[in-house]
Amino acid sequence: MKINKERLKKHLMKLGSIGYTEGQGITRQAFTPTYEEAKKYVRNLMENIGLKVYEDSVGNLFGKLEGKGKKKSIIMGSHIDSVPNGGIFDGSLGVLGAIECIQTLMENNHTTQYDLEVAAFIGEEGTEVGGTFGSKCFTGEVSFQEKDIAYLETVGISKEDIRSAKRSPKTVKHYLELHIEQGNILDTEGLSIGIVKGIVGIAQYKAEVKGKANHAGTTPMHLRDDALVKASKVINQINEIVNQLGAPLVGTVGHIQAHPGAINVIPGKVDFTIELRDVSKERVETAMNLVKESCKDLNLSIEKLEYEWEVNLDQDIQSEIEKACKDLGYNYKFMYSGAGHDANPLSKIASTGMIFVPSKNGISHAPGEWTEWEDIDKGVNTLLLTLLHLDKE
Ligand SMILES: [Zn+2]
Repeated sequence: MKINKERLKKHLMKLGSIGYTEGQGITRQAFTPTYEEAKKYVRNLMENIGLKVYEDSVGNLFGKLEGKGKKKSIIMGSHIDSVPNGGIFDGSLGVLGAIECIQTLMENNHTTQYDLEVAAFIGEEGTEVGGTFGSKCFTGEVSFQEKDIAYLETVGISKEDIRSAKRSPKTVKHYLELHIEQGNILDTEGLSIGIVKGIVGIAQYKAEVKGKANHAGTTPMHLRDDALVKASKVINQINEIVNQLGAPLVGTVGHIQAHPGAINVIPGKVDFTIELRDVSKERVETAMNLVKESCKDLNLSIEKLEYEWEVNLDQDIQSEIEKACKDLGYNYKFMYSGAGHDANPLSKIASTGMIFVPSKNGISHAPGEWTEWEDIDKGVNTLLLTLLHLDKE
């Protein structure tokens, strides 16, 4: 049983045209009219193949096909919102690929044991309330502050809506998400399928280095306490320590500000951000301790902003994905995801698996994002066969 590659391509191109501008990619953020148009398109596709379609109280869209009576669902899905100026496959592939799998099963008169559901989760890319909004509401893993609630009310979502979008974990057997890799590992190694072992944790910090602001003309070099010179040493240390500890740990200083920020004043204070990602919380903490230790004379203070710890995906599902790749003759590798996905919240309530396909030159969240059609085809066939394997349990 194989999917219909041409039909899928047509749907991906059509959905990819909603919010698309030539040369600028796709802009289709949640809670916008463009997003609603995309949702309508997906809803129609679901209805046209005969799925029972429903939308929950926060705007997650589902299409369901009943199975032979095991009253639990295998959910396949992802998101159909985008970042500003993103690509056409990010998220959409997981949703349309899932619809294609179900349509293929129906055409082959194959009825599954479990109910099948396609989910298009709303607001996976960041909005005012952060990322994976819809999937967090679905799993009930939400902790919104007053300002978040105030924002959500402006888009018509109340506290009660958030509460009632929570789904009972008992109704979910597995969650499967097919997604583009958004990195360059598969493309560089010439592989078609990534079997995702886990999703890295993200730790974000705010750092401050204090010095002494003074006149840039009258203060001799040996009497200066330049906060920016010290901060540059810290940044260099972060880079060296992260390199020493090695992959998959990555560390980034992405934002920096010198105070008072004038051409003729020695910086008295520098604020910057630090972000560390790894599959082990201990390694992130080790890195941070080494940074603090090696910079202890630089008047550095570090404050934790946010932690989102790593996710380990289900090992049995990983084996099923591997079996599917072997059966289909596709080359593959086990790997970690450096980006968060709807699979993060879902993994808290159901055994979860993720399949990656290559991103050309590793480009993502940019208009140049691309995946070859042949790899799209392989990714969706892998999803279909994995689904069939999992349905036999
Ligand atoms: Zn995505």
